[in-house]
Amino acid sequence: MRALETVLVEKGYVDPAALDLIVETYETKIGPRNGARVIAKAWSDPAYKARLLADGTAAVAELSYGGRQGEHLKVVENTPELHNLVVCTLCSCYPWTVLGLPPVWYKSAPYRSKAVLDPRGVIGDFGVSLPASTKIRVWDSTAELRYLVLPMRPEGTEGWSEERLADCVTRDSMIGTGLARIPEVAS
Ligand code: FE
Repeated sequence: MRALETVLVEKGYVDPAALDLIVETYETKIGPRNGARVIAKAWSDPAYKARLLADGTAAVAELSYGGRQGEHLKVVENTPELHNLVVCTLCSCYPWTVLGLPPVWYKSAPYRSKAVLDPRGVIGDFGVSLPASTKIRVWDSTAELRYLVLPMRPEGTEGWSEERLADCVTRDSMIGTGLARIPEVAS
């Protein structure tokens, strides 16, 4: 994690003075858990997934994660052929009802510009390399319409409970700068 932070600082995504532990906790732990539960339910329940992709706002509200009036949530699904990446090129619009506070780098000028110009490069900066055959689609958030990525379910998780699946869903996997993954077990 420290190495990634260093890279992100060097690339200009993160002002090191802004890396505050409490904010980090809200960004990575508390906030995104709502989104992780939504994703885990979509992986477990095909009918829920269909509703989520058809109307993200309504499907998220089913789990009592309310949005503010006027904000619509669109859920975009990753597949082997298509990877989705979310940005707000104008400012920092972010689906905070499901993800909490946006990370510092999400609001940075380098991320906002490079995500559009070189999305594969940005994803690479976050340590993710996608097959060349996977296309990348960039979604530009607005105050009215915000995006949540439905990442691919990790292999080897057949039969897992929603609670266990939710632990595979990282914040970044729901922005598109990361992938869902089976958590490493502390030895
Ligand atoms: Fe914005």
